[in-house]
Amino acid sequence: MVTDFGVPTRLAQVRQRIARAASTVGREPASVRLIAVSKTQPTAALQEALAAGVETFGENRAQELAAKAPNIPATWVMVGPVQTNKARDVARWASEVQSVDRIDLVDALQRRCEQADRVLDVLVQVNTSREAAKHGVPDDASQVAAVMREIGRRDRLRLRGLMTIATRGGDETETRRCFRSLTAVQRAVQDSGIPPESVADLSMGMSGDLELAIAEGATTVRVGTALFGPRTS
Ligand SMILES: *Cc1c(COP(=O)(O)O)cnc(C)c1O
Repeated sequence: MVTDFGVPTRLAQVRQRIARAASTVGREPASVRLIAVSKTQPTAALQEALAAGVETFGENRAQELAAKAPNIPATWVMVGPVQTNKARDVARWASEVQSVDRIDLVDALQRRCEQADRVLDVLVQVNTSREAAKHGVPDDASQVAAVMREIGRRDRLRLRGLMTIATRGGDETETRRCFRSLTAVQRAVQDSGIPPESVADLSMGMSGDLELAIAEGATTVRVGTALFGPRTS
């Protein structure tokens, strides 16, 4: 079956999914932020999304972020792994980084933000899927809190919350386990003294699992294919 909807139609469908998922669990649809993950998509698709009302775009490669952001007047979020030698592009073009998972990256982002005279919102990525190849701090509250305390000491970084990617191809039980692991880490780091407002944002849920994520407390969902269609590369 060929489904060739344009971005505006897909956006309306995604917003409806978010609204239904939120109201099912007694939450306001507006309590869920939508990030349009535009990786591999051409500028024309991003322009279509922008015209349809998308305000926030996400990229997973710094190089692609630096290529697209100058042409699209929107808020840009880095959701993919960042090598320290790419921190400069991120500090320059992103408003937020959701994939912070180690101290050398915290240092690099702080330094590049000083140079660019910018401030970044930061989420700590947690590896809830426990797959060795995945990025993120292990889903262990003391390790996550240690990274958070380092971020808290950097004046150019504003700690906002936690991000995770559920196990790829996992069933509903496994996906929920990942999301619950993130909310458990959120509670535990608060108990260890991290201010609640610094861990308030929970970025979890993508095209295939945003309903489960919202049911489990997501305040941000990162949606690519459901908005733009299949990726071209
Ligand atoms: C690609 C990507 C997404 C979006 O995935 P879809 O399944 O296309 O919605 C979300 N988060 C991250 C970190 C990604 O790399």
